[in-house]
Order: sequence, then C-alpha cells, then structure tokens
Amino acid sequence: MNKKKIMLIFVLSMLLMFAACGAEKPNVKAVFNHQLIITGDVENELVLKTRNDDISMADLRIDDESYLSFNLTSLFTYYEFFEENYDVLFVSHDGMKNKVSDGFDLINLYISDTGWNVYAPYFPPTIALKNLKSVVLIKKNPDLSHGINIISPTENRLSLTPGKMHLMNLELFNYFDGTSTKNNNSMDAYKVKEVIHMSRLLPIGTSIVIMTRDGKYYPMESIGYLELQGNRLNYLNPNKRLVIFDIVGIIEQPPVKSIMDAYHDALHIIKTNKKVMVIYIDGFSFRQYEHAIKNNHLPFMGKLETPEKALAVYKPVTNSGMAAMLTGQPPHMNGISDRNNRNPLVDTIFDHLSGLGKSSMLIEGNASILNLNTETVLNPDVNNNGYTDDEVYNSAKQNMSDIDYLMVHFHGLDDWGHSYGDLTLETMSKLVEIDSYVDSLVALWDGIVIITSDHGMHSSDLGGDHGVFRYEDMIVPYFITEGGMHK
Ligand SMILES: [Zn+2]
Ligand SMILES: [Zn+2]
Repeated sequence: MNKKKIMLIFVLSMLLMFAACGAEKPNVKAVFNHQLIITGDVENELVLKTRNDDISMADLRIDDESYLSFNLTSLFTYYEFFEENYDVLFVSHDGMKNKVSDGFDLINLYISDTGWNVYAPYFPPTIALKNLKSVVLIKKNPDLSHGINIISPTENRLSLTPGKMHLMNLELFNYFDGTSTKNNNSMDAYKVKEVIHMSRLLPIGTSIVIMTRDGKYYPMESIGYLELQGNRLNYLNPNKRLVIFDIVGIIEQPPVKSIMDAYHDALHIIKTNKKVMVIYIDGFSFRQYEHAIKNNHLPFMGKLETPEKALAVYKPVTNSGMAAMLTGQPPHMNGISDRNNRNPLVDTIFDHLSGLGKSSMLIEGNASILNLNTETVLNPDVNNNGYTDDEVYNSAKQNMSDIDYLMVHFHGLDDWGHSYGDLTLETMSKLVEIDSYVDSLVALWDGIVIITSDHGMHSSDLGGDHGVFRYEDMIVPYFITEGGMHK
C-alpha cells in the first residue's frame, strides 16, 4: 500500500467516526440536560433546561462564543413581580451564593456545556458564578400571607418565607430513606435535607398544631425540624419518620377548642334530647370580641360567660370554616379547603341528625354556601337596606319552633369587616346590631345555644380581609349558653 492510499483510508475512517459521533450526539444532549431551578418566594417553581417558551431567550456573545441566555428581568416579567420588591440569590452547585438587590437588567444567565452561569460585566467579577443550581427570589418585605407563620392565640410570633430561609444558617440532615437489598447485597439510602431545628423556633415540648396549605391539621408536641425544600417548607420528624409537606403555619399552645367542636358539641347535646341553635356570626375574630368588650359594643354577649378561644381551620374562609363546623372534620378530610369547593365528602351534622330522626334547618343569607342535606331558608335583602342580617333574624324567629337543630348564619359582620376593617366603629356598630339579634334569639330558644364563627378578620390596606394563617384570622370566640334566659 502506498502512502497516498494509507492517508485516504485514514481520512475516510476519521470521517466515518465523526459521522457516527454526529449521529448519536451524546455530548449535545448532555449540554441541554443542565437544569436551573427558579425558586424561593414563588408560588410555582420554574425549571429551565434549555430554550423555554416562558422565558425569552437570546444569543449572548462572550469572547467570540455564542451562548443561549436570558436577562434576569425576564423572570420578573414571567412571575408578574415588581423587581423592586425582591432580592435575587444565585446559588451554584459548589455552594457559592451571591445576592443582588438591583441592576437586574445588567445581569444575564447563559448556558454553556458545563451548566448555567452568571454574566454581569458591570458588577464585581465575583458575581460571575459558574454551574448554577438555582436562582432564589427573596421577597424584601413579605407580609404574613407569603410564607409560614408561627402564631399564638394572641399574637403573630414569627414569619418565615422560603426565600428568607435560603439565607439562614441551615443544618444539613441525613434523612434515612430506607434499606434495599438485591442478591444478598444491601444498601442504606439517605437524603440530604436542609433543616432548622424546631428549638430555634419554639421551646421543645410545646403543644402545637401544624397546618398545611391544603388544610391538613396535626396536633402534636414541638420537636423535630423545619425543612426548606425550594419554595416550600416541610415539617420533619425523623424519629417518627413523619414528613408533613408544604406547611402554612404552626400555632403554639393552641386553644383546646376548635370550630369543629360546633359539630361535636351539638351532636352530643342533641343526643341528650336537648335542642341546639348554632348562631354563626361570619368573620368574627376573638380579637374583635375583646375589642368590643373593652369598648362596650357587646351589650348582650358581653354579659355571657367569657367565650373560649376556638381555632379555625386553614384556609380561614367561609366554605372551609362552615364545612368544618358542620362535619367536625378538617378540610383535608371533609374535602372543603377553600372557596372553590361546595360539596362535603363526608356526612354533615344534618345527615347524622336525619339518621337520628331529628329535624334541622339552616337559616341563610341570600345564597347557599355549601350543598347540604337540610331545609335551607334563603333570605334575600328584601327591604333593600344593603344587608341580610335583619331578614335572617326575622326568618330565624319565624322558623325556630319544633326544630331540633337550627343554624342561623349572619353575614353582615364579615361584609362590614371587609369594607371598613376589623376594629373600626362602622364594623363595631354592625356587631352591636347582630348582638341585639343574638340577644333576642337566645331569649326565644328552648335549648342550648352555641355562638361561634367560621374565621376571623384582620385589617388590610383596603379595609379588612381573612384567609391567612395569622392569629386574627385563626382564632374566634366560642360560646355555649342556655337559651330562654330572658324568660
Ligand atoms: Zn366567612
Ligand atoms: Zn369574608
């Protein structure tokens, strides 16, 4: 073979090798496998691999090379966030973290064959982290609706957001995941978790209730860890191998009573052949009760024995509160955890009462909240005075005879609370009005009366609101008294 032929064969075989490599493209695929997770104080995590339709990508030239990149501001566009409300934390796979507070339009993230990187030539050079793992958005001034809150029955104690926790001193915890065996070879698996010990948040052994965003409810003693998982916080008890995902809050030294007791107490009383009327004052917080007592806005209820504090369920909104009061079960069991659900998945007190041969009735405002098996009397605002409390009151008076269980739902305090704030004079005057209806109904009732609420109310920029894991929303008064006391 001559030299020329050998060269030709060599070149041809090299070409074939290249062709074979090109066909499989193993390295090209690896490049696009690098993930970048956008997390922290965001409702939904975003995982960027490569060209992503949600984030506008462009070509970026660095030292004559071209890279796929996006400008940091496009994240704020994607989430519809105001840039000035957030800090941004870059976290690399080797554990470096850089935080920036502004100049986001001068920062680009680009993907190279080793991963995602920061490019910001107008910043100090150390900003240029290589091989990023995540970008954490941190809300600068979070309010209580953004993360998890630790509350007591009388105050909001501590508020944490996932973003904030990315900057705290967390411990690494090797969580034992289990042992597996194959062909007589076994292996112990662990998962590394970022945690803070509960003792940094609460004294160990304190009685607490942990609640989750989807309405789960766990009474327990304070022990174990809080785990940061991206944009979520979990509770971890390694000894019991218990993980509670996506918690929304912890209440320390919770009241013994819960609004779910409106079900249990009523059923218990009715089984002793007494009648029960539940006066359900929508959106009545314990804080409002105390404020009203101090300022003489509760002439009747102020004379009753001091009510107990009762814990509402999460989410503290009407549908879930009412369902908890009528089923005696928390949202994840009765199926109603927010305003979108109307059909309880379990029997309500009305179903049990009809099983016991007892009569029941619900006196409502102008619309039904839940789909229930009972006679519901709707009361539109017939006299057009802007609210239905007077109609509800009259309707209750007319319908109360020969009923074993009557629930009377006053809506006005909640409406006034939303419009004017929880403790204003306007809202208090509404409470005075409802107090007089309660006075009269209790006097006329031949049985036991429970007076309570579905959730509380906190003041907001626009008046008042509820639906947040905070003590004003989560703690309501709970009275039990004898009817007919004025007779
Ligand atoms: Zn309500
Ligand atoms: Zn409301």
